[in-house]
Amino acid sequence: MTSEPTVKTLLILGASGDLTGRLLLPGLARLVARGHAAGLTLVGAGSDDWSQEQWLERLDTAFADANSQANTDGKRELKRIRTSTSYHRLDVTSGGELASLLAGLEGPVAVYFALPPKISQLACEALTPEEVPAGTRLVMEKPFGSSEESARHLNKTLAALVPEDHIHRVDHFLGKATVLNILGLRFANTFLEPVWNREHIEKVEIIFDEDLALEGRARYYDGAGALRDMIQSHLLQIMALMAIEPPASVDERDLRDAVATLLRASSIKAPYAKNTRRARYSAGSIDGRRVPDYAKEKGVDPSRNTETLAEVRVDIDNWRWQGVPFMLRSGKALGSMRKEAIVTFRPVPHLPKGFTGVDSPNQLRIGFGPDTLQFDVDVNGPGNVLSLDRATLKAELSASDLLPYGEVLEGVLSGDPLLSVRADTAEDCWRIVAPVIKAWARDSVPLEEYPAGTPGPEGWPT
Ligand code: NDP
Repeated sequence: MTSEPTVKTLLILGASGDLTGRLLLPGLARLVARGHAAGLTLVGAGSDDWSQEQWLERLDTAFADANSQANTDGKRELKRIRTSTSYHRLDVTSGGELASLLAGLEGPVAVYFALPPKISQLACEALTPEEVPAGTRLVMEKPFGSSEESARHLNKTLAALVPEDHIHRVDHFLGKATVLNILGLRFANTFLEPVWNREHIEKVEIIFDEDLALEGRARYYDGAGALRDMIQSHLLQIMALMAIEPPASVDERDLRDAVATLLRASSIKAPYAKNTRRARYSAGSIDGRRVPDYAKEKGVDPSRNTETLAEVRVDIDNWRWQGVPFMLRSGKALGSMRKEAIVTFRPVPHLPKGFTGVDSPNQLRIGFGPDTLQFDVDVNGPGNVLSLDRATLKAELSASDLLPYGEVLEGVLSGDPLLSVRADTAEDCWRIVAPVIKAWARDSVPLEEYPAGTPGPEGWPT
């Protein structure tokens, strides 16, 4: 089945860049091959003086996988995109260049800023509202600003050009299936909601541990680090979905309102030496692969003290969550990959005398990518029915047949901002991490060390 997108033209700025080649175009290809982009035209633009052949070569490489798996209709759609696409050389920061390209495209157009953040900002500042045709959508990549103030400034620039619901601030970590899986689990099961609060939940952990190291991305990562790169954006979004009040619907307004309210109540409190930790990996090995010391990697300035592992305790000051720690942790070059949210329930108030064995707290684990659900419960036996044992109930949650960036683009092309981070939330996420950034800059929290391939510094929970 094919569906027509609201958007007629997808204009990718930064067509020669890494994001476009590695993630955006393959994501688009899968979407196109599955019939979700009927009638769409793709236009690439960049500062490189590329020929049409060079652009087509890039498309062929990025489309190869989707093409090999596509059925006849899918292959025809991919071919149609290839035949109608064009590449334009332009400097997006130079007044008028982007505007005249936009004027010649069939609308509505979605403009994807796959550019360095500073250049995206300059490109938006170079546009005037009259130069942006009605219906245009602006798609902004992360990081969205570098502080609450700069995010506010960028929001103001964008708001002068298009309405808020035409601005897509991308968070590719949260695909639509994942978001709906969390909401479905929480709000379609009566047994969970009555215990989903401070009375019954001891702590919530949200963990994104990567076994990948820097992988040549020093130019971006060394200026960011784990707190800004992962916690400030993706992990706070997941935390919000785990903690929001039940929305009346899953449309963008109800859901994004609930997320914004939750994040407004959230903060990371002093003392930062107790409520936050940071560390940087040293040389080690992961799966037999040697990983050099982060501080000695090409492009890294060791004096910046960039953390490759961060952990913070977030407090949500509302009725439901007062006093419950939300531990958010993310790092690179760790011994094993883990992407999950773990909800630990409080122990039973009284275990009837006579039972033996360990009464461990119940835990609910939601795994991300692939999405899974695990529930750890205490059961009797086997053998001695008085002895308690741990059993795990497991389920696989529904997966999307699109790649993460395919899901992002699907939202953009169909004009659905559900997955996009709203302006106030983008600013609030910076407000939440700002005191930690300051405390770390003052060296109030030691920068610990862990050899690559280990679970983290000694003494940290695993
Ligand atoms: P790259 O540096 O690889 O690519 C940037 C692109 O922008 C290049 O095509 C470059 O062209 C173009 N460009 C730079 N200046 C101009 C200009 N004045 N006019 C027109 N084009 C220009 O960056 P990435 O692709 O890695 O990142 C793009 C964005 O995506 C960033 O915001 C990044 O934070 C975000 N992102 C990236 C991810 C990734 O894995 N790469 C993951 C998540 C987000 P030229 O080479 O000719 O200068």
